[in-house]
Amino acid sequence: MAECLFCRTKGNFVTREHIVPESLGNTKYILEGVICSRCQNYFGKEIEKAALEKTPVAIWRTYLGIQTKKKRLPSVNLDPPAGGAIPALHPASDTGVGFSAHEDGRTSIDVYDSLFKEKRFKQDKIEYRMVATPWHLSILGRFLGKMGLEYVALADLNYALSVQFDDMRSFVRYGSRKSLWPIYWGKQGKIEDLKGPIIWSGLEGRQKIECYRCALARMAKGEVIFAFSIGIELMVVCLTERSPIPDIENCFAGTTLSCIFYPDESW
Ligand SMILES: [Zn+2]
Repeated sequence: MAECLFCRTKGNFVTREHIVPESLGNTKYILEGVICSRCQNYFGKEIEKAALEKTPVAIWRTYLGIQTKKKRLPSVNLDPPAGGAIPALHPASDTGVGFSAHEDGRTSIDVYDSLFKEKRFKQDKIEYRMVATPWHLSILGRFLGKMGLEYVALADLNYALSVQFDDMRSFVRYGSRKSLWPIYWGKQGKIEDLKGPIIWSGLEGRQKIECYRCALARMAKGEVIFAFSIGIELMVVCLTERSPIPDIENCFAGTTLSCIFYPDESW
């Protein structure tokens, strides 16, 4: 019998779990029979959906034109959900705005609120501001932790079930109303360089686009970290230690990461 990677229920699971969501283009890294269907459904509904629709991952998915599972071009409205237990709206964040990807490779800004147009359209420039709230960081921390633990499980399932990952395991599966998991965040490259060369296939021009990159690494003191990048955003979480680790801020050549965090119960 298997033991679910997240809730530790024992059983014979028939799940096929995409480590990075299929909607971001992952068709290769899949865990079979490693997590129970309750956990899988929960992640799909409560974590991946929110991460793919309401966080910076949503913006990049649209900007890069990564097709959804149903082969549609993405379109997102970034207004946060209302009424949850963790604050999701920051007064400095813009609302009433969405983005849509188009066949010709362009991205449109869909404005639902005329106030946004007044405030943020400046000559030839449009500014969109999004401040990460505790809700965004909670969703992203759990999304990153889920993918990280699953990558560990793909390499070595017994190791992934070991006690050093228990804190992250529980944070991913059950979340927390009062605590977040630190995310180390930085930028890599330039937005102008993102869309790659056009590849011609048949009569359709298709741009070659790199959707995301992932890496697992072990720090000198043994902490296991997981890095995920999409667009020019690079996000790193430590899978084995919840308290901030300053060494992580400089562990990527050419990029300085900042630890993004709200202290416990500060909201
Ligand atoms: Zn489970």
